Amino acid sequence: MRNVITLEELRTARLSLDGTVGFVPTMGYLHEGHLSLIRHAKEECDSVVVSIFVNPTQFGPNEDLAKYPRDLERDLRLIEPLGVDLVWTPTAEVMYPPGYQTWVEVEAVTRPLEGAMRPGHFRGVTTVVAKLFNAVQPHKAYFGQKDAQQAAVIRRMTLDLNFPIEIVVCPTVREADGLAMSSRNVYLSPEQRKAATVLFRSLSAAKELYESGERNAEALRRKMKEVLAAEPLAQVQYVSCADYDTLEELSEVRGKALLSMAVFIGKTRLIDNFVLG
Ligand code: AMP
Repeated sequence: MRNVITLEELRTARLSLDGTVGFVPTMGYLHEGHLSLIRHAKEECDSVVVSIFVNPTQFGPNEDLAKYPRDLERDLRLIEPLGVDLVWTPTAEVMYPPGYQTWVEVEAVTRPLEGAMRPGHFRGVTTVVAKLFNAVQPHKAYFGQKDAQQAAVIRRMTLDLNFPIEIVVCPTVREADGLAMSSRNVYLSPEQRKAATVLFRSLSAAKELYESGERNAEALRRKMKEVLAAEPLAQVQYVSCADYDTLEELSEVRGKALLSMAVFIGKTRLIDNFVLG
């Protein structure tokens, strides 16, 4: 496994990769969710590239960029046994050289949900992913369903900008009690960690209602809010039942839909979602 930092090193190393190249972009502090993406890539591609870059441009001024968890040595130890060919760990100066002024913006699908709560977030995400795609030139790129809107935005951007890359979205990996794995879970105290299962419980309750035949989107949102309201440590930011591709709020669930939510447990902001249909 090679670890490269600069664009020149990355380009040279890329030239020596054989066959189909799978790419897994991450911000590091890896957990089973990230490792599952790498395993999917390994199964489907001849070579696998992983990037680790905490992208400053997708964090808002009041977000946790400075204290976002980082441990490169541990990450490399976790990746090593998976048979990854190349790990790219660019610095901020490599990605955003002095005088930087070029941005990629996707429109409607970035507006609701995470986009509404985190202005500028997706502009940072699409810009960095486009730059990573241009540098790595993979055949397939792997993203987690955990960040459902991000996956929808990247799918849109890939189509719109004619990237010849297949976007593969892999299932959310969860702890035994249902909490979606996230690098941010390390911020939770033991008491908050218990409370954090409320996201999974509320999504499960709404899914059960859907499976019993309920198709009224407001009834599904109401059910999620009801379960969340019973957890005193949870502060709800949004609860949504939206179209899977456009993320527009639904009044009735007919095709594929996304139940999603953002909830503060203390100062830690958690997101989770289920796909319906
Ligand atoms: P991040 O390092 O948080 O930017 O995540 C890198 C990639 O891992 C993204 O495509 C995420 O959607 C994906 N990911 C994060 N958590 C999970 C999870 N629990 N299950 C599956 N994929 C995940």
